[in-house]
Amino acid sequence: MNLNEYKGVYVFIEQKSREIQNVSLELLGRGRGLADTLEEELVAVFLGNEIKDQCQDLISHGADRVIYVDHPQLDRYLTEPYAQALDAISKFEKPNIILIGATSTGRDLAPRVSARLSTGLTADCTSLEISEERELLMTRPAFGGNLMATIVCPDHRPQMSSVRPGVMQKLAVDNTRTGEIIEFGVNFDESKFKVRLIEEVKEAKELVKIEDAHVLVSGGRGVGTAENFKNLEKLADNIGATVSSSRAMVDLGVMGHDRQVGQTGKTVRPDIYFALGISGAIQHIAGMEESEYIIAINKDKGAPIFNNADLGIVGDVNKILPLLNNEISKLAEKKA
Ligand SMILES: Cc1cc2nc3c(=O)[nH]c(=O)nc-3n(C[C@H](O)[C@H](O)[C@H](O)COP(=O)(O)OP(=O)(O)OC[C@H]3O[C@@H](n4cnc5c(N)ncnc54)[C@H](O)[C@@H]3O)c2cc1C
Repeated sequence: MNLNEYKGVYVFIEQKSREIQNVSLELLGRGRGLADTLEEELVAVFLGNEIKDQCQDLISHGADRVIYVDHPQLDRYLTEPYAQALDAISKFEKPNIILIGATSTGRDLAPRVSARLSTGLTADCTSLEISEERELLMTRPAFGGNLMATIVCPDHRPQMSSVRPGVMQKLAVDNTRTGEIIEFGVNFDESKFKVRLIEEVKEAKELVKIEDAHVLVSGGRGVGTAENFKNLEKLADNIGATVSSSRAMVDLGVMGHDRQVGQTGKTVRPDIYFALGISGAIQHIAGMEESEYIIAINKDKGAPIFNNADLGIVGDVNKILPLLNNEISKLAEKKA
């Protein structure tokens, strides 16, 4: 393999119902920095059906070039058509680096494409840098978050990495940026399509994704029961926040896995993060330490969460929350 033939930082752009997902814009933000360091192009790879109109948005978010495939087979995410399209583009274009969001779609797609390209994949990276040797340094937590491992892919190209939503930052939109938009035709091998999408059923209640929330009220084992969790939900309702939790509450069945913050859950970066009855285990901290302002309530003044908190309150969360909710209700009544 002649490594010098491989050029450019390519970002897989994930869309759902034609809505570009935040993680892809975040990856364009980081990809821009990598491409500038390498003095190579930043390319957005956009797959979907009737998506052409959105290509310019990707240029405004930092891409130099957009390669899009517009095809009815790509209307909703299905493994085989998406893997075939990304594989075909990669074999034709020979990217140096491919970045993919570590969403449920990305987790399904990235390993399949890396296997087809006979290259490695470093999943769930928290940092991406370029070494003096111009290699991609892919850093991710290892051994249960007890150490950070930096992984390189010296002998194969592309260098592939997935990154969770909320870890990287998007660039400010610049509508004056210009770039190239190219349609790519894929000859799908439909004999390989073994799965058909028959029906899509939406969740009854549209919840705000925790990785998109500006304010998160997060509860841990200290909150105790589903009944006590109602105090958190009330606080969240009162202040326009979203509820999330530690893994302990997911394991207890109080919260769904989509609400879990941390190493094996979601990475969040809200303006305000309430950590209520959460001890602050390293695996939890890994998912929320980039929050702008952290408020912790814990009855143990030695709890590790206080090392990360901007405001710490030592006390019983199940006594403090009803009082807080009461005061907020009184204020709201006064205002009304
Ligand atoms: C490979 C691996 C991956 C993991 N991934 C994740 C992950 O993604 N996310 C995650 O959260 N965890 C994860 N964990 C688990 C993690 O190690 C901790 O076990 C978990 O975060 C603990 O949750 P907790 O803080 O809610 O519970 P605990 O550690 O039990 O802490 C409860 C806290 O509540 C306080 N408390 C008790 N009662 C009250 C009260 N009435 N008022 C106020 N405070 C009170 C206690 O002092 C204590 O500090 C992972 C573990 C492993 C090994």
